[in-house]
Amino acid sequence: MEGRPGTSRTNDGPFKVCIVLPCYNEAGVIGGTVSVLLKELDALISSGLASSDSYLCCVDDGSRDATWEEISGLAAANQRIRGIKLSANFGHPNALIAGLFSNRSRADILITMDADLQDDVSVLARMLEEHRTGKRVVYGVRLDRKVDTFSKRIAAALFYRVMGSMNKRMIRGHADFRSADAGVIADLERFGEANIYLRGIFPLIGYPSAEVRFIRQERHAGDSKYPFRKLFSLAWEGITSFTTTPLKLVFLAGLFMFLVAFGLGIWILWSAFNDHPIQGWASLAMLTVTFSAINTMSVGVIGEYVGKIYKEVKHRPRYIIETTTHGD
Ligand code: UDP
Ligand code: MG
Repeated sequence: MEGRPGTSRTNDGPFKVCIVLPCYNEAGVIGGTVSVLLKELDALISSGLASSDSYLCCVDDGSRDATWEEISGLAAANQRIRGIKLSANFGHPNALIAGLFSNRSRADILITMDADLQDDVSVLARMLEEHRTGKRVVYGVRLDRKVDTFSKRIAAALFYRVMGSMNKRMIRGHADFRSADAGVIADLERFGEANIYLRGIFPLIGYPSAEVRFIRQERHAGDSKYPFRKLFSLAWEGITSFTTTPLKLVFLAGLFMFLVAFGLGIWILWSAFNDHPIQGWASLAMLTVTFSAINTMSVGVIGEYVGKIYKEVKHRPRYIIETTTHGD
């Protein structure tokens, strides 16, 4: 299907499926992942869910190890594997976008999953079945967080709390394991923002969607590219690119300070006129410190949004493709 915005597919398969795998320093993992996925693809083809020209697309996100050599070797050996090499490390969301946008006119259904096999391949069939029933986006949702580190669990719990309190529709437990039809990806392409937060944007695009549950596995090899510091910045990124509630909080903090100052002013005047001049620098120092702390934090929050605007107006490309295995 040619993926024009708003196009909905009516036929019920077999779908031409493209599985997009973002890879950053995954040389030790990608070979194993690809062979597992090829087997699964064969099963999907024989069950009539996927068409025989379905394929995998590995996006090398500027790896510094032999990931690209691995991918090009795999692609040379098997028609069902394509590779895209980005010119530098553009980050996980941009690698996903590069894979989705460059394949959307070639496939009916595009699936994204981790290159480390943490996402359960056996739910791919359920995803395609949901598409058959007319769903246009299917979210992979993890059942538990057993394999996560303590810090990751805390970060996740905090994040959903904050987002929830700001009334943002987030799918709890969903990361970047999802499938969508080419029309949805065409709609996604119209979201031109530099600070793209995919987990939040897909629910925003709308259309009938479904969730499939799975148990997240341990990483097969290599290390997670998301240490706590990066997780924190991912959550902060998510909040600030999706809502301006922190700016409203800044206003509320200002209002609060004004009310306190007003009350204090009245009290001071009253005391002065009633022969109780207020003494002591301790209270003064405390007030100065409190207010300047709130002020500085507020400037920081506003600065975050100004920085985002700065990034947006530059309109830099989100990714640059250096080469591909199929020359297109
Ligand atoms: N990844 C990427 N670019 C990056 C960081 C990560 O393409 O800058 C890929 C990585 O190779 C993996 C996926 O994004 O396929 C998720 O990363 P990872 O498995 O390290 O995260 P975790 O599963 O630990 O959250
Ligand atoms: Mg992973």
